[in-house]
Amino acid sequence: MVASMTPTTHHRICPLCEACCGLEIKVQDNKVISIRGHEADVLSRGYICPKGAALKDLHEDPDRLRTPLIKRAGEHVPATWDEAFAEIERRLPPVLAAHGRDSVGVVVGNPAAHKIGLLTYFGKLARALGTKNIFSASTLDQMPKQLASGLLFGHWLSIALPDIERTDLLIVLGANPVVSNGSMWTVPDFRGKAKALRARGGEMIVIDPRRTETAALADSHHFIRPNSDVFLLAAMVHTLFAENLIALGSVANWVQGVDEVRAATLPFTPEVCAARCNISAETIRSLARKMAHAKRAALYARIGTCTQEYGTLASWLVDVINTLTGHLDQIGGLLFAKPAAFGSNTQGNAGMGKGISTGRHHSRVSQAPEVYGELPIACMAEEMETAGAGQVRALITVASNPVLSSPDGPRLSAALDKLDFMLSLDIYLNETTRHADVILPGISPLEDFHYDVAFPQMSWRNHARVSHPLFERPEHQPEEWQTILKIAAIVQGKGAQTDANALDDAAFEQAAQRMAGAHAAELMAATAHLRGPRRMVDAALRTGPYGLSLSEVEAARDVGGIDLGELAPRIPELLRTPSGKVELAPASLIQDLARAKQDLNGIRPDLVIIGRRDVRTNNSWMHNLPILAKGPFRCTALVHPQDATKRGMKDGDTVTLRNGSRSVQAIVHVTDEMMPGVVSLPHGWGHNAAGARLAVASERPGSNINALLDPNLRDPLSGNSVLGGVPITMTLAL
Ligand code: SF4
Repeated sequence: MVASMTPTTHHRICPLCEACCGLEIKVQDNKVISIRGHEADVLSRGYICPKGAALKDLHEDPDRLRTPLIKRAGEHVPATWDEAFAEIERRLPPVLAAHGRDSVGVVVGNPAAHKIGLLTYFGKLARALGTKNIFSASTLDQMPKQLASGLLFGHWLSIALPDIERTDLLIVLGANPVVSNGSMWTVPDFRGKAKALRARGGEMIVIDPRRTETAALADSHHFIRPNSDVFLLAAMVHTLFAENLIALGSVANWVQGVDEVRAATLPFTPEVCAARCNISAETIRSLARKMAHAKRAALYARIGTCTQEYGTLASWLVDVINTLTGHLDQIGGLLFAKPAAFGSNTQGNAGMGKGISTGRHHSRVSQAPEVYGELPIACMAEEMETAGAGQVRALITVASNPVLSSPDGPRLSAALDKLDFMLSLDIYLNETTRHADVILPGISPLEDFHYDVAFPQMSWRNHARVSHPLFERPEHQPEEWQTILKIAAIVQGKGAQTDANALDDAAFEQAAQRMAGAHAAELMAATAHLRGPRRMVDAALRTGPYGLSLSEVEAARDVGGIDLGELAPRIPELLRTPSGKVELAPASLIQDLARAKQDLNGIRPDLVIIGRRDVRTNNSWMHNLPILAKGPFRCTALVHPQDATKRGMKDGDTVTLRNGSRSVQAIVHVTDEMMPGVVSLPHGWGHNAAGARLAVASERPGSNINALLDPNLRDPLSGNSVLGGVPITMTLAL
C-alpha cells in the first residue's frame, strides 16, 4: 500500500484490454502521478497504448461508484454494505422460492476477465443459483472461435496463435490488431512486431471491409464483403485440394478428417465464391498458394469473422487452412501457449480428453443450445418477457452493460424495468445498472490483487506476472470474491452474515482435490497462509506445468515478471479430444457448411453496417474517462464517397441508419477507407439514458449501433450475435 510523500514506483498489469501490458506507475501522496509502459515487462517490453495511462482517470473518476446504491422510490441512494446485503436478502430469495432456480439470470461482461475475484468466484455464485440462464459477452464476441477451437483441439481455450516474431507471412482477416493489440491473441505492441516482420523480409496481408490501421501497415489489403469470410476461406481450402497443396507437416499423424474436409468444400470453387465475397478467383488462389508455399506462415482472424452468420464455420476454416498448409504447431506458424496456471490443456491426461460438447440444455424461448455453459446473450430479453415456468424474473449483472453492448438494447432496457429484482456488481451507474435495485461497487483495479487467468492461455509468449494493490480499498468494502460468496450464501439460505472466509475454506478444499488429487493435503498446507484468489492462484501455479508459487511470481514483479519463453510445439500433448487427434472435420461443422452452400448465391444488399474498434475506446465503459474522451469525436459513421454521393450526403451530415423498424442517427465521415456498400459505426456508444451517471460520456453520447441489430440473428452453432454485415438503409436526417 502507498502513503508516501516521496514518489514510489509500482508495477502492475494493465486491466483495460486483452493485451495485458506491464505498467510502471508512480505514486506520490496517495495519488497516481504517472503511468507508462514497464520496460522490463517480459510480455509487453515497455509498450503502452493511450488507454493504459487512463487507468489514473478510471481510479479518480468521480462517477466511479464507491458505496453501494439502493433504489428507493425510483432513485439510487447511497447505502452501507450491510444495508445492501440486507436488501438483497430481502428481495432475491423470495424470487427463487416462488419461481425456481431458472428464474434468476446472470450476465457477465468482459471486464470480469480482468478481475481475478470476479473471474475465479463467479462460478461459485452460478452453482449456488443453479440457473441455466447464464449469459455473457462471449456471445457478442469470441464464442465462435472458442467453439471451433474446442472442437478441433479438445478445449475451449486451446487457441492456435500466430508465432509473430518468427513468421514470414501473416494474413489478417477481419481483425485490427494494430488497434486492439490482439484479440484471442495477447500480443502487446502488435505494430512493432508487424514492422519487424516486414523489416526482416516478411509479408503481411490484410483482408477487411475497411482499410484499417493494420491494413495501412500491410503489404497489401483486399476489401471483402462483410459476412462472406466463410466463402473466401472455403474457396481457399478448395484450392489447396484442387492444386495438391496439402502438406500437414509434423502434425500429419495427429490429424483426422482431411478427406471429409475435401469433400465438404468441393462446391466452393474460387469462381463461385468470388462474387459472393468480392475477392477475385485469382486472388483467392493466390492467397491459398501463398499459405502453402511460405515456409513459415499464419492466418489470423478475429472479431469480423466471429460476429456474423457463419462465425463458427469461418473460425474453423481459418485453422483448417493453417493445418492443411503445414503451419499448425510449427515455429513461425501457429503455436499454443503453455500457461503457468489455470490452463485446462495442461491438466488431466496429456494428449486425450473428453473434448467439448454443446446443447446440454437449451434456452426456453428460442431453443438456442447451451455453449460453454451459457446461453446467447441476445436471448436475454425474450427470456424475461415470455411468461411461463423458467421465466427470468430477477437478474444479476456482473461488470456488464448489455443495454449498450447487445442487439436491440432498447427492448432489453424495457424488459429490465419489469424484473422483480435486479442486482448489479459494477463500477458505474450506467445504461444497464440504472435499472438495478441494488448496485454493489467493484474495486478500482489499483486497489486490487490480480493474476490473469485467461490471457496467458493466449499470449504470444509464455509468462507469469502478478499485480498487487497500490491503494487501500474503501473502508468496509469487501473484496470482490467476498462479495460474491456473500451473495452465494444469501442464495443458499445461509444469510448475509455468513463468514466469507469460512465459505472459502470449504470451497478450496474441493478445489485442492481437483487440482492435486492424492496430494491435496500437501497443497492445502502449502497455501494455508492465503485466502481467496491469492490462494487459488498459488495453488494453480504450484500444480501448473512450471511448478511455480505465488511468492516466486511476486518476487519477480518489479523485474517484469517471470519469462517462460517462446511458444513451442505442443501437439500431441496439448490435445484433449476423445480421439487424441486434431479433429479437423467435426460433424456439426461439416453439416453447417451445407447451410453456407445454400447461401452461395445469396442476396447482396446495397448497403450493410459493420462495427469498428478505436485505440482510445474498448466497449462501452471507457467513454467516461476524460483523457480518452478528448479529441475528435469517434462515434462517426464512416461512409465511402460513392455511397455518400449517391445519397446526396457530405462529411458532417447527420444521417438516419435504419434496419426495419429500428433506427439510429449518426454523423457521417466520408472516407475511401471504407469498401463501397459498407458503413462502419463503432459499438458501445449511446450514453444518453436518463438515470445513468456518466458525466463525461453523456457530453458526447454517440449512437448505439446495437440498437439497430436484431437479437434473433445469430450464428446457430455458437449463439453469437450477428453484429456485422447487417443490411441497412441510410438517409439524410430531417
Ligand atoms: S494495449 Fe493499452 S489498454 Fe491494452 S493492456 Fe496495453 S496499455 Fe492497457
